Amino acid sequence: MAHTASISQLQSPPWALVNGELVCYDDVKIHISAEALTRALSVFEGVKGYWDTANDVFAIRSPRRHYDRLMRSAKLLHIPIRFSYEEYLAGFATLGRALLVPGRDLWFRTTLYVTEGHWGEGTVADLVVTGFTQRKHDPDPMRLGVSTWRRGGDVTLPARVKSSANYLIGRLARIEVRRLGYDDAILLNDAGRVAEATGACVLVVDKGGIVTPPTSEGCLDSITVDSLEEVSRNLGIPFERRPIDRTEVLAADECGVAGTITELTLVDEVDGVTFDQSGLLARLRRRYLDVMRGDVVLPGTDLLPLISRGGQSVAGDDRVSSALTVTT
Ligand code: PMP
Repeated sequence: MAHTASISQLQSPPWALVNGELVCYDDVKIHISAEALTRALSVFEGVKGYWDTANDVFAIRSPRRHYDRLMRSAKLLHIPIRFSYEEYLAGFATLGRALLVPGRDLWFRTTLYVTEGHWGEGTVADLVVTGFTQRKHDPDPMRLGVSTWRRGGDVTLPARVKSSANYLIGRLARIEVRRLGYDDAILLNDAGRVAEATGACVLVVDKGGIVTPPTSEGCLDSITVDSLEEVSRNLGIPFERRPIDRTEVLAADECGVAGTITELTLVDEVDGVTFDQSGLLARLRRRYLDVMRGDVVLPGTDLLPLISRGGQSVAGDDRVSSALTVTT
């Protein structure tokens, strides 16, 4: 199967942000002996910013939730934090203004790399933010294979810590299923039930409602799934979190995967079993994308307007004003 390049392979942006300062992307370096490399000690968040074409405004989805999840990942790995939520938010504004192309979305990776320290003593981490533009398009359906690799349990490699190390198993799973011709893998947990895909959560449709596993089944505490749940309830579609057996996926009416970068992508096949592409998940996906892109207004949607055309900060939002005072 042909290699699908990742967004960071396709783009080399001019700027990145290191501890709040703009730095040439190619000049961001890390020492060979940093714990980020020797012990895979880094935690991160992928955060999406949407360009609302109708209103010419760039808005970030759920920045507070991403900050809180980053804090929790860092706390669980004993990585001290040296920045506030306001500074985190200001980073999106600074880098966004440097990279934004009106009409296009931006996907940010905010990573805490442990640069100093040894086995928990004297730990220091740098916050590095990179950003990559994305065109608006509706991704093609995916084909998934169930991997023989498993998602670790809470006392082995906790799924709720969004650490780079957690992606080692996902990488093995993806290599395994891509050799079989699939696009991505479903990872099962220790009990043999569905945990998640390699970079997204799994949703199925059963008896007229959407079902997805809770975090305790070994998936990341997904911010996209929370947004989808809200949109789903608004559409009157039942939404439930409960454990899902492997055979339930195969028996389901529909299947999809959800994540910040994946948004809601439909799955047309799992291990040779095919699914309907025109049901509840297709409806939910259309509404989710319409809401994120500003085409449909859903009160309570967690989109924070940040930059307007021309790079100005968006007036009238206290959270943005306070964020921008940090950078100016
Ligand atoms: N699981 C994994 C392993 C992921 O990498 C992601 C993407 N961050 C998700 C689930 C979905 O999480 P979110 O919706 O918060 O992006």
